[in-house]
Amino acid sequence: MAPTTHDTDLLIVGSGAAGMTAAAVAAAEGLRALVVEKTALVGGTTAISGGMVWIPCQEHLRAGDSVEAARRYLDAGYLTRADTLVGLAARLGIDAGELADTVAAYNEAARTGVDLEFGRGADAYSRYLGDADVGPNPCLAALATPPFFAIALVPSDLGTAAGLTTDPHARVLGAHGAPVPGLYAAGGDMRSIMCGRYPGPGITLGPALTFGYLAAMHAAGAASDDPATSR
Ligand SMILES: Cc1cc2nc3c(=O)[nH]c(=O)nc-3n(C[C@H](O)[C@H](O)[C@H](O)COP(=O)(O)OP(=O)(O)OC[C@H]3O[C@@H](n4cnc5c(N)ncnc54)[C@H](O)[C@@H]3O)c2cc1C
Repeated sequence: MAPTTHDTDLLIVGSGAAGMTAAAVAAAEGLRALVVEKTALVGGTTAISGGMVWIPCQEHLRAGDSVEAARRYLDAGYLTRADTLVGLAARLGIDAGELADTVAAYNEAARTGVDLEFGRGADAYSRYLGDADVGPNPCLAALATPPFFAIALVPSDLGTAAGLTTDPHARVLGAHGAPVPGLYAAGGDMRSIMCGRYPGPGITLGPALTFGYLAAMHAAGAASDDPATSR
């Protein structure tokens, strides 16, 4: 591909929430903004955020849920089904004794309502995500009635917390704490304002949008010294 040249006032790397917000705000403020994206897809992590695990009859996912959908997931191998825990362990290729011990400990937590191992249902947010019809802890329903189902869960990154240090205008700060002229960071590239804590959903997307906005406003010369009073 032949190299091309573009003149731009603001070069934005990445088409996620932070980048697209900065681009829209920069354009609205009269800057020529150019977004460069390294993948074939526009939207980055932002476009797939809010993804959920599909679990049959889960209270928050009942819309569109059906027996046919459950059959499709079974046929596709997403769900594994067995009439006994021993049978389920065999299908999953895991140790039946360990599965029985795990389920017994879990069922005891479901009975008392206190999850000593993972703390499920210990705060209002996780209880909201549970099933209000289940008690004493809406996040813990005893595994007692066959058939039993299993879903493979694979941990992955949701975001980052340790990026570039910035000031309230999203300007990147250099080693001596002074802003690097013309360089901004927002979203996953910016050191989280929460310093690694995760108080709840929105704490990564919210600052990505906010600091994308603040960066573009500053680049356009439209920021006030107090970001709270920026337009
Ligand atoms: C499944 C899932 C669910 C989530 N749910 C929530 C939620 O409920 N609430 C919440 O607040 N957050 C959630 N998050 C986190 C949130 O989506 C991200 O923190 C946020 O989208 C990051 O936005 P961003 O603009 O910084 O980066 P991204 O959206 O990741 O965009 C970065 C873009 O930059 C591109 N890029 C990278 N390097 C280059 C390069 N060198 N040149 C050109 N382009 C480049 C990438 O390809 C990408 O398109 C979730 C994330 C996931 C994965």
